[in-house]
Amino acid sequence: MTRTPSLFISHGSPMLAFEDGPARRFLTELAPRLRRPRAVLVVSAHYEEEHPTVTTGAAPGTIHDFYGFPPALHRLVYPAPGAPEIAKRVLEVLAARGYEVTGDAERGFDHGAWVPMILINPYADIPLIQLSISPHRDAAWHYALGEALRPLRDEDILIVGSGSITHNLRDLTRSDAEAAPSAWASEFTEWIYDKVATGALDDLLHYRERAPNAVHAHPTDEHFMPFFVALGASLSGESAERLHHSFTYGALGMDVYAFGEMS
Ligand code: ZN
Repeated sequence: MTRTPSLFISHGSPMLAFEDGPARRFLTELAPRLRRPRAVLVVSAHYEEEHPTVTTGAAPGTIHDFYGFPPALHRLVYPAPGAPEIAKRVLEVLAARGYEVTGDAERGFDHGAWVPMILINPYADIPLIQLSISPHRDAAWHYALGEALRPLRDEDILIVGSGSITHNLRDLTRSDAEAAPSAWASEFTEWIYDKVATGALDDLLHYRERAPNAVHAHPTDEHFMPFFVALGASLSGESAERLHHSFTYGALGMDVYAFGEMS
């Protein structure tokens, strides 16, 4: 039996699409390490809905949901097809667990999905669907959402949580993409790493009270919720590996995790 891993990817600044650096290089070299899935399901920090919502369109557009970036970034498109049948299956597994779910045939891909995917699969030849996160819901709720998605990993669907391991946009060294990381950001990411490595799920779910600098690392928590969806999609006893660790702009953590075997 083959089972896809679930991934958490820090998507960084939209400029990741263009600006060279360790995180970008890592993503451009990731695909050969993964078995080609039937579809990719991205749970993005930039897709917030009250109830779980899934993109169901056959040809979703590219959403340029950012401001103050060069025009070239607004011209990028990611023409991957949608997958209405697989989206229906995602809605089905969630409904089976009691979630009130909705399909959205109109919504396109936000940059939390297409910026990493344009680097991982520039050919855009694997269907892509998105699932929303829910504001006002905590880590445990998003972990449970991930648990509900577990069966999809046996159906050749790659689950990708796309957010940021740290996300305090007021505390970045904006002038220097390669600035050395701030102590608070390093402490937070290493605490997370340690808890993942030791399987300390209870600590992770209570990161906001227990992790050093948690509220500074995530003044609002929407960029961290996709991590818990990816974590929730993993099975007990499965491997958990930090595939990549770096910072951009001194405090924007770019960590990538894989839960489960890569291939
Ligand atoms: Zn973002």
